Amino acid sequence: QAKHKGKSSYAHFAPEMTEVSHERLKMESSMRRALELKEFELYFQPIVNTNSGNLFAVEALLRWNNPAMGMVMPDRFIPLAEETGLITPIGEWVLEEACRAAMGWKQSTGKDIGISVNVSPRQFRDPGFTETVMHALSASGLAPEQLELEITERLILDNSIETAEILRQLDKAGIRLSVDDFGTGYSALSYLKSYPFDTLKIDKSFVQDVIKEPEDASLVRAIINMAHSLGLRVIAEGVEEEAQTHFLKKENCDFSQGYFYSRPLPAPDFDVWLTNNHRV
Ligand code: C2E
Ligand code: MG
Ligand code: MG
Ligand code: MG
Repeated sequence: QAKHKGKSSYAHFAPEMTEVSHERLKMESSMRRALELKEFELYFQPIVNTNSGNLFAVEALLRWNNPAMGMVMPDRFIPLAEETGLITPIGEWVLEEACRAAMGWKQSTGKDIGISVNVSPRQFRDPGFTETVMHALSASGLAPEQLELEITERLILDNSIETAEILRQLDKAGIRLSVDDFGTGYSALSYLKSYPFDTLKIDKSFVQDVIKEPEDASLVRAIINMAHSLGLRVIAEGVEEEAQTHFLKKENCDFSQGYFYSRPLPAPDFDVWLTNNHRV
């Protein structure tokens, strides 16, 4: 009986599996050509000072414009890019493009505008990673202090000496380091004191409900206080409503990012946003 059931559900499942892996293969081969075909594009989202609403920095967010698939969002292709190792050349392109963009804004506005770049674990562990970062800086002329690398707790979890050493090298070079999606990983909080992080980005899942859910409000308040007592700056992600900005101001959250201020924008639209918003 059980055997029969297992067999029939297998028979039912098999074609789906084939479809999935076929889809995956198609996506992988398209991804292999995407850099060459210039299908990747960076979108830019402002990070503002919570109190003043003034621009503080910009996060670069990757998009993949594929003729067959349309615009593919990172959650759909970054995991595959990680698995296949394609994240290394793609990430290199992101770093160079992001640093170049930040240098362009400095030239157009006369102001130093920091750029935040997401780095996934596989990319970070590539032996050439530090060199890639330094090259992106020297090629663009951007000062290391204007570059922030966003790393998730997943990376720190591996607890390796190599990870610690690379973080130290980047920190020594003056590059800023932030913990992205803070609160969603295992959060063995002790890493915060042993690694040279500058910034915590509170995950949007906590920020989204600060008005409705007292528990989320307590968590966000606690994260902000903990970060400050460790000398870290805090960015709230996913700010969509004005009420959230009042809460974050009251709780002294340094910086905010979210649709309330601006969606991620393609470069030409971001330039327009910048022209209208780059008060000191
Ligand atoms: P993330 O680094 O946590 O980026 C924030 C995500 O939240 C972005 O999604 C952004 O569009 C979205 N977001 C911003 N404001 C709001 C808001 O008010 N409400 C809501 N609901 N969402 C908001 P996106 O662009 O789809 O990126 C998803 C994730 O993909 C990123 O999360 C990051 O982990 C990864 N990613 C993006 N670009 C890159 C990249 O160049 N390299 C790597 N390795 N990962 C990247
Ligand atoms: Mg990020
Ligand atoms: Mg530092
Ligand atoms: Mg995040």
